[in-house]
Amino acid sequence: MFAQFDNTYRRLPEAFFALRSPRTPEAPQLMIFNADLATELGLDHSQFDPDTLAEMLSGKRLPDNAEPLAMAYAGHQFGHFVPQLGDGRALLLGEVVTPAGERRDIQLKGAGPTPFSRGGDGLAAMGPVLREYLVSEAMARLGVPTTRALAAVATGEPVYRERGAEPGAVLTRVAASHVRVGTFQYFAARGDHAALSTLLDYVVRRHDPELADADEPAKARGLIQAVIRRQATLVAHWMRLGFVHGVMNTDNCAISGETIDYGPCAFIDRFDPRTVFSSIDHQGRYAYANQPGIAQWNIARLAETLLPLLDDNEEKALATANELITGYTEVWHAAYRNVMGRKLGIDEATPDDDKLIEDFLSLLADGKHDFTATFRQLANLTTGSDEDQLPEMIAPKDVGRWKLWLSRWRQRLHDASGAELDQVSARMNQVNPAVIPRNQEVELALTTAASDGNLKPFLKLHQALQKPYESTPDNLWLQKLPDSNLPPYRTFCGT
Ligand code: AMP
Ligand code: MG
Repeated sequence: MFAQFDNTYRRLPEAFFALRSPRTPEAPQLMIFNADLATELGLDHSQFDPDTLAEMLSGKRLPDNAEPLAMAYAGHQFGHFVPQLGDGRALLLGEVVTPAGERRDIQLKGAGPTPFSRGGDGLAAMGPVLREYLVSEAMARLGVPTTRALAAVATGEPVYRERGAEPGAVLTRVAASHVRVGTFQYFAARGDHAALSTLLDYVVRRHDPELADADEPAKARGLIQAVIRRQATLVAHWMRLGFVHGVMNTDNCAISGETIDYGPCAFIDRFDPRTVFSSIDHQGRYAYANQPGIAQWNIARLAETLLPLLDDNEEKALATANELITGYTEVWHAAYRNVMGRKLGIDEATPDDDKLIEDFLSLLADGKHDFTATFRQLANLTTGSDEDQLPEMIAPKDVGRWKLWLSRWRQRLHDASGAELDQVSARMNQVNPAVIPRNQEVELALTTAASDGNLKPFLKLHQALQKPYESTPDNLWLQKLPDSNLPPYRTFCGT
């Protein structure tokens, strides 16, 4: 299946990784295989039955010319620097080049301990594996840059967690690369400038080939700017969907600009910008509204690692880095304005629209309205001034404020040259999803799978998320608003 492995990371110096074979489960069972993605990757999978796929995608049977390795990296976790993290339970099998010419990492997550496991078992429990499969694939369908999931395999063996024994599983993760801000930090912490230079060169060839022939300082500047653009775009997507990543540590900040690490992530139901789902994020460091600022903080950590390559003169290097990092703010505002404007049916939002966007979010927050459903409903409100049209959940005391906002918004749509209102509504429906992975449903799907071995709710939810911007017979049930009497949703780090 992976006949065309072409392992460039393996050819980097030894300090970049540790070679390690996966652990071999006795009787792995395929839970789900992403045939569409396999085809996209150019993998010839048709001749393999589910049992063979389960063996290949659990570590039991190594594909030809796989050279499994655990990548070395460091990272700031909740603001504290850890000089050595690395893949503690993931192995890079190799890289494939898709028919479209794109290089993709194929990684097994939960395939046994590595030299970077730091006392962990190197394994993954079924619940978190299915969460990553479900949410990362939903994100892809929602149009968000993300790592993908090729398969989830049950190992048939228990893993021991705080809550006791849970069934084990392995996820096959696909990424444009697994290089993180933390990868640069690993070498910077060791003062290894030669390795930093090699890594910069590698990353630029892989993600920003137009910079490949530039001199080193220009390469370093160019990479920081590219990461700024990609992270600003990425976080703007998260914000437009009410997505809270939950663990934006620098080791979970991918240079490729893909969402990576679906541990404690979740989507907001009733809007509150302070929302935190992760049970360990006591300070709210990674709350919804903090995400744009944290992305900038992470980029500052990247820029720090590149100081010696930016300029031989320390002061000049620092000045360049500072200027680049400051530049994030403008890139971020433009990215955010663009996506939020489009959610309101405004194609090319300008700074004059910022107040309209902000005021709508205040209405949502003050009324604790459902983020996804309310944006989706707006597309039906582009015309008319009748308060019958207001979303049902609006409290009588808020009707005045809503009507005022709606009239400002309608005026803005009217002023936009040639804006046909039915086309505006259609465009809004392309960016305001009808369905997202609802916390309650995700939880039900994962617990039913892990406790009873019953994948039905998981598969039903996965199916409902295939066309999130359309209202389909498959997803009507998921458009129902969650029960508002539930306690606040909590997620646990997916180990
Ligand atoms: P994460 O919170 O998933 O970003 O993981 C942070 C670090 O902990 C990474 O180096 C992981 O590889 C490592 N890690 C997480 N869970 C395990 C585990 N069960 N066994 C070994 N290492 C782990
Ligand atoms: Mg991680």
